[in-house]
Amino acid sequence: MSHIDTEKLSAHLRAKGINLVDKTILITNYSGSLQESDLSEPANCSGFGRIRHFRLDTNSDWNIINPLPILPAAKALGIDPKSEIKAQVFQNAVCNWRCWYCFVDFKLLSGNPKFSDFLSSDQMLELYLDQPTPPLVIDLSGGQPDLTPEWIPWMMEALINKGMDKKIYLWSDDNLSNDYFWKYLSSEQIDLISNYKMYGRVCCFKGVDQESFSLNTEAAPELFDLQFELFDRLLNIGVDLYAYITLTCKRETNFKSVIPRLMDRLQNISKNLPLRIVPLKVYEFSPVTPRMKGIHRNLLEGQNFAFQVWEEELNRRFTMGELKIPITDVVL
Ligand code: SF4
Repeated sequence: MSHIDTEKLSAHLRAKGINLVDKTILITNYSGSLQESDLSEPANCSGFGRIRHFRLDTNSDWNIINPLPILPAAKALGIDPKSEIKAQVFQNAVCNWRCWYCFVDFKLLSGNPKFSDFLSSDQMLELYLDQPTPPLVIDLSGGQPDLTPEWIPWMMEALINKGMDKKIYLWSDDNLSNDYFWKYLSSEQIDLISNYKMYGRVCCFKGVDQESFSLNTEAAPELFDLQFELFDRLLNIGVDLYAYITLTCKRETNFKSVIPRLMDRLQNISKNLPLRIVPLKVYEFSPVTPRMKGIHRNLLEGQNFAFQVWEEELNRRFTMGELKIPITDVVL
């Protein structure tokens, strides 16, 4: 199987996705896209945004609650955590991987000018504010926001300049695929991010080992290991970090050996890290079905066995009291 050349594709997509002179980012416009038909309500912000309803009660038969970003947002905003929170989402229009289960139409990941345009953070905020009740959370999503890591500090500066940095919670995603955060941000920008109070970031671990990682993302297997290194680096600068993990892997996986090893690696970063990670169950749904091949049905089945062992390991490594700690209070 040939793999994505992540380094090459990342550089290519970064060049398409950012304008350093104008301080603009290539943002997806949903109008006419496949993703538009999947939105629960029409796109907003002239097609460049969407409102996402995050809910505590997920319908996963794994019987776990996804507290992200509700608990971090509520804590930062000083409000009671509600069972549902609305966020204003902007998506950058580039991603360097092609996860078969991605809910984004792949046409919206290649910097296609038909479905995107360059916007500054000020322009995004103007569009966001031009609605009757703007949500208290802004989610900079993707795509892979970290192909254009400047987006985060630029948005922080725009919020500070508008006096909104203490009123709005900023959340962003990261697929842990590259070191652009370190390569392209100045030390001042990194300081701004680490000291910005109303910001949280969710990183996504993909798969349980090199093989499943590669089957999920189409990237080279060894990049599985890079995810841990990148997460560790971000943790060390004090960012309020959380993670998702997709456990999709072959049902023939030796779960009893692979999952404990995965947990060990996470705990080598920080003993409590597994408690800040939310496993995401992957479902077959409309954008995913046309991409699915036989192997993907196998991976869908495998995730259930992986989750079972993941839970067993959590119960073996943590006390009942520790397992009940709200995700925002887990100390890393
Ligand atoms: S990294 Fe995220 S945005 Fe990119 S293809 Fe995978 S799921 Fe989709």
